[in-house]
Amino acid sequence: MSEPLVVVGNGMAAARLVDELAKIALGRYAIAVVGDEPRLAYNRVLLSSVLAGETASHDIELKPAAWWRERGVTLKYGYRATEIDLGRRELKIANEESIAFSKLILATGSTPLRLNVSGADLAGVHTFRDSRDVDLLLTLAAQRKRVVVVGGGLLGLESAHGLAKAGAKVTLIHLMDRLMERQLDAPAAELLKSLVERKGIRVLLNANTARLQGETRVEGIDLADGRRIEADAVIFVAGIRPNIALAKDAGIPVNRGVVVDDHLQTGVPEIFALGECAEHRGICYGLVEPAYEQARVLARHLAGGADAYGGSVVATNLKVSGVSVFSAGDFMGADGSEAIVLSDASGGTYKKLVISDGRLTGAVLVGDVADALWYLELIRSRQPIARIRKGMMFGRSLVEAA
Ligand SMILES: Cc1cc2nc3c(=O)[nH]c(=O)nc-3n(C[C@H](O)[C@H](O)[C@H](O)COP(=O)(O)OP(=O)(O)OC[C@H]3O[C@@H](n4cnc5c(N)ncnc54)[C@H](O)[C@@H]3O)c2cc1C
Repeated sequence: MSEPLVVVGNGMAAARLVDELAKIALGRYAIAVVGDEPRLAYNRVLLSSVLAGETASHDIELKPAAWWRERGVTLKYGYRATEIDLGRRELKIANEESIAFSKLILATGSTPLRLNVSGADLAGVHTFRDSRDVDLLLTLAAQRKRVVVVGGGLLGLESAHGLAKAGAKVTLIHLMDRLMERQLDAPAAELLKSLVERKGIRVLLNANTARLQGETRVEGIDLADGRRIEADAVIFVAGIRPNIALAKDAGIPVNRGVVVDDHLQTGVPEIFALGECAEHRGICYGLVEPAYEQARVLARHLAGGADAYGGSVVATNLKVSGVSVFSAGDFMGADGSEAIVLSDASGGTYKKLVISDGRLTGAVLVGDVADALWYLELIRSRQPIARIRKGMMFGRSLVEAA
């Protein structure tokens, strides 16, 4: 008889895990997936394209209903899991009967953070995480509202771009002195800022939100340095918090995320976690690629293999207003490393390759990202680059032709 395996969360990590598992151990488990969003799992990364009007919402579904059915998966979407009963090995679901499990997988993702400032709970203050948020933001944009996006990271830039393209008047404010400081060095961030501004998005740096103004609806933001920005709506895109409440309440060890080992197992046997809710070797990843790598390892482990997850080399590939940006590995350059840099501000191109111990260890590209995946492969494989070092900056085709 198939062993009952229950997955909590019907997001990107869950869908990939079921996909990987079905390929190698179909029939070994009776899989049930419980997710609280009222639709089939979709590609969350593409929500920005939906907001920008480049993709239709129904086109971002990861798998059609028939795909899940053919693999025998019991799908319960629109249902919230409320409690894990470890003693009875049951998952409780709001307004529903509990489901019994022999193995439980937590794939609950993250929740966007709201800044802890006065006015953060006013009407007109939103976040950007799921397709319901997109519907709401599209309504704001269609009314040509003045929208302030708080947060100049990857997601803040994508939201600002989508909102502006959909018709909103967008100001992007960021606490730090440069955009995407976790992925870009100063010259790359400066170039990105000017390219984004050219598209009509106002960008304010060193902008520390002191409070949100308004009686019942938000009317503006006061910055700590006295600046005031008028707003009809404010979108907080200033970080995420892993969804760990279910695990924590059940006594499963958590830190910032649900703590997992190299088999993605939590501190409780046969309970696993992956994706944004998981914390592996002290890291909670906020990107989809690590979630997919974890899904592959966990599926093989569940199928009886001896695979282990050693962590992910994080890479960022982003397109804002037609500006391509790529960043991977040690892009800032640790002590003892060297950098090869090509900078053409008016041409809209910046490239930096970081080298350490004769290997490529990091890269930042703005504008021209044609060789991004090749650089990523070089970083991940840690192969010596002495032979290709001279031509490496100018791309794979040049190196291979030499
Ligand atoms: C707009 C946007 C753009 C992004 N762009 C990029 C990008 O360009 N590149 C990139 O790498 N990453 C990007 N990301 C991040 C990427 O989407 C996430 O890393 C990825 O979705 C993580 O997958 P996950 O399954 O862990 O979480 P999720 O996809 O969030 O899935 C978790 C699911 O669990 C559900 N859930 C939570 N608690 C419960 C419960 N108690 N009961 C039932 N269900 C529950 C949630 O509702 C959600 O549906 C973007 C994210 C957003 C929001």
